[in-house]
Amino acid sequence: MLTPMSGSHLLTARRLRLAAVALLLAWFFVGELRRAVPIWIPFLVLAALELNFLVAGLRERGAPRRARGRPPQAGDIEDFGGEEWLEPVLVEVAGHDVWVPAEVEERPPREEEPPPRRFARYEGVAVLAVLAVVLFVLLPDRGWRGLDEAAQARTEALLSAEAGRIAGHAVSVRCDAEGEAVGVVQHADGIAEVGGTNALLTPAICFRLHRLAIDGDEGSFAQTARAIAVLAHEAWHLRGERDEGVVNCYAFQSGVELGQRLGLSEGTAARMMRQQLAENATFARQAPEYLVPAECRNGGRLDLNPSSERFP
Ligand SMILES: [Zn+2]
Repeated sequence: MLTPMSGSHLLTARRLRLAAVALLLAWFFVGELRRAVPIWIPFLVLAALELNFLVAGLRERGAPRRARGRPPQAGDIEDFGGEEWLEPVLVEVAGHDVWVPAEVEERPPREEEPPPRRFARYEGVAVLAVLAVVLFVLLPDRGWRGLDEAAQARTEALLSAEAGRIAGHAVSVRCDAEGEAVGVVQHADGIAEVGGTNALLTPAICFRLHRLAIDGDEGSFAQTARAIAVLAHEAWHLRGERDEGVVNCYAFQSGVELGQRLGLSEGTAARMMRQQLAENATFARQAPEYLVPAECRNGGRLDLNPSSERFP
C-alpha cells in the first residue's frame, strides 16, 4: 500500500501524539519535571506532531483517491480480486473489519467509517481539550511563578510588613513557590510558627494578594476574601495564638483593616470578612478545630473592638 498515511504509520503517529499529551500533562503535575524541563519542550513536541498530522492529511488529499470515501475503491478492487468485489460487505473477524464478497455474506454494509479514522477524529478533539485545559486552567495558576524575582521580593516584603503589624513584631512571610512546605494536597493555604517569625503562604494566595496590593486588581470576591483571611490567620499565629478557632475569629476582624491597607474600600473589606465568618461553619465541618468559638460575636469576649457596632 502506498497511501501517504498507511495504517501502521497512522498508529505510530497516534501513539506519539498520545505520548506527547501525556508528557505535557505530566509536566504540569510533576514538580521535578517542571524544574528540569522548560515548558516549550512538551509544547514543541505536541506542535510538531500536530504539524505532521496536518501535512500527512494534505498529502493524502493530493494522492490517488483510493484511500478516500467508503470502500472499495478502484485500487482495492484490483488488489483484492476484481469485479465480484464490487458489492462487498463489511464483517468483523476477531476484532478486525474484513470486506467479503456479497454472495458470501448478505449483511448490509455498515454506515460507520472504518474505526481508525473515527478514533483519529476523537483524538483530535481530545488533544484540543487538553490544550484548552492547559491554557485556561493550569497556566493561570502559574501566576506567582510568572512574576520576576523583584516583584516576588517586593510582594513578600509587603506581606511581611502587614503580618508584622498584626503580630506585633518583625516577621518574614515567604511564598513557597517550590511547593515543598505548603502544597495544595495538604489543604493548607499557609503555615506559621506560633509566636515565631516565619510564615509560608501558597503561591496562589500570594499571587492574589500581589494582584490586589500591587496591581490594584480586586479579583474575585471569594478568592480575595480568602487570601486576606489566610494572611491575617498566619499573622495571628505569629503573634502567639495557637487555637485555630480563636485565630480565625481574630483574623476575620483584623482582615477588615488589612484589606483596606492592601487597597480595598472599608465596605468591601468588611463584607469580605463577614463572608469569611459566615462560611466558617461550613468550612469547619471538615476541620472542627477551625470553628470560631461562640464568643466570636459583636460584644463577645473575642470582639477585638467592643465599642464598635460592626462585627467583624
Ligand atoms: Zn492556623
